[in-house]
Amino acid sequence: MKARLTVLGSGTSMGVPTIGCDCAVCHSTDPHDRRTRPSILIEYGDHVVMIDSTPDFREQAIREQIRTIDAVLYTHTHADHILGIDDLRPLSFRHKPNKLPLYASQEAVDFIRSMFRYIFDADYKFGGLPLVELRVINGPVDLFGARFEPVTVIHGEAEIYGFRFGSAAYLTDHSEIPEASLAKLQGLDILFLDALRHKPHPTHSTVENSLQIVERLKPKRAFFTHICHDLPHEATNASLPPNVRLSFDGMKLGFEI
Ligand SMILES: [Zn+2]
Ligand SMILES: [Zn+2]
Ligand SMILES: [Zn+2]
Repeated sequence: MKARLTVLGSGTSMGVPTIGCDCAVCHSTDPHDRRTRPSILIEYGDHVVMIDSTPDFREQAIREQIRTIDAVLYTHTHADHILGIDDLRPLSFRHKPNKLPLYASQEAVDFIRSMFRYIFDADYKFGGLPLVELRVINGPVDLFGARFEPVTVIHGEAEIYGFRFGSAAYLTDHSEIPEASLAKLQGLDILFLDALRHKPHPTHSTVENSLQIVERLKPKRAFFTHICHDLPHEATNASLPPNVRLSFDGMKLGFEI
């Protein structure tokens, strides 16, 4: 089935420009250097699935004119990946009398439930709550005729999820990819990888490290995400192999799901 992937956000946790920063990338006039927090949208058939809901979700949804979301999959519970949950409100109301399903690991479900207690705690009276329900990921998730397979990656000291869906995979936030997960990433058309910057970081991949993963997995096309202000879009792309590009907010790609 034909599918379309939209990059909602390509930036690291603080976004680019970073508040209070005077560096060249934070002051760049190239719109590709403006990076909101990391998330993607996948559209196929009549359905729309999002991966992560960032603090920039509202801005992203308005920019991309998102009219509906049928499910959200979560990679992990760092603030830059979950803080948009409250802004799911207007789209969640369209699911009445049902709720918009949010899929995450058991650990992530427990964390989201306690962090957003006002949403999930029935005794906590509050107006205008998002109509969402948490569902635990126990293996591949079948959504509207497509399969989303969780792929475990190492993010510093935590094990979190990336996802493979059809001929594409989205791995944000990883410092290491275990062998068993690399085996699930063969034969890809599109591979998204974390590439924070050049300098090593304890919980994120670098451009150099992710280029080695591309070399090993040989996807047709690779795109880097979770990018910080160390990487100017145009100059960095000019230094990359032709099948590897920095992703950017609003980038759209076709693939088979
Ligand atoms: Zn992150
Ligand atoms: Zn900066
Ligand atoms: Zn993270």
